[in-house]
Amino acid sequence: MRCSSESSRPVVLPSFRGVFRSPRRAGALVLLLVAGCSANEPASDEPSGRAPVPAETPAPSRTIHEPIDAATARALEPVLRSAALDVERFFGAPFPEPFEVVIHSDRAAFDASFPPEWGIEKTECWMVATGVADALQLLSPRVWKDEACEHDPDDARHLHDLVAHELVHVYHGQHNPSPDFSAVSGIDWFVEGLATHASGQLDSGELAPAREALETGRGPLELATAWSGKYRYGVCGSLVAFLERELGRERLVGMLGATSAAELFALIGMSEEELLERWRAWVLGEA
Ligand SMILES: [Zn+2]
Repeated sequence: MRCSSESSRPVVLPSFRGVFRSPRRAGALVLLLVAGCSANEPASDEPSGRAPVPAETPAPSRTIHEPIDAATARALEPVLRSAALDVERFFGAPFPEPFEVVIHSDRAAFDASFPPEWGIEKTECWMVATGVADALQLLSPRVWKDEACEHDPDDARHLHDLVAHELVHVYHGQHNPSPDFSAVSGIDWFVEGLATHASGQLDSGELAPAREALETGRGPLELATAWSGKYRYGVCGSLVAFLERELGRERLVGMLGATSAAELFALIGMSEEELLERWRAWVLGEA
């Protein structure tokens, strides 16, 4: 499948190494959405591939786009750079592998990037990006006003945090035995919560807050349902924020390789019931 309605020719973006070709690839799951930005960071040099932490330049990556999105790709470059550096700073280490950033020129092209095994033929209007180990797929912000909902392409913080959210998924996938998350089970709340927390979305003020969910009796009774409904980002993001508060950043990073709820809870050192109980008390200011 192709990512366009326009003819294409290779285009190389200087720093994020943009190349032009037909995308496809991807892996599985993890859709995304919401969040904010820091628009223009000064462009820096070509990624060097070195990797101290945090690296001055993010992991070598290349941006793939149609000619119609050339200007969009250039505008996104500093956002990608800034968001990638933020992700590396959060985890304390660079992306171990390169990845692609694919900008889709319209909704149909974005939908076509989803592998059949995901079972999603048509995406919802709020879905504008996905992230797995080897790629970030993005519906071009150029068409968000016409082909998306709940996303303002002119909101710099929103765009930055959204890109950072997906890059957390990319980073996570690069540290997980299942790079596209197709073989993980029972950890949706952690995957999405980590991306929401580490990207800064939780602090953006955009998300329906976990406290409101709990105060109105709509908090999750079990983690299996935490990643659902209006409060899914706020609830899951705050669950991971609570884990970091209790266990520290280092132990949180040590959970990137977990593929099951059992494996995750062994690392957390609490039962699901204890985690939920303590999290509720923290959110409600009782702890
Ligand atoms: Zn996500």
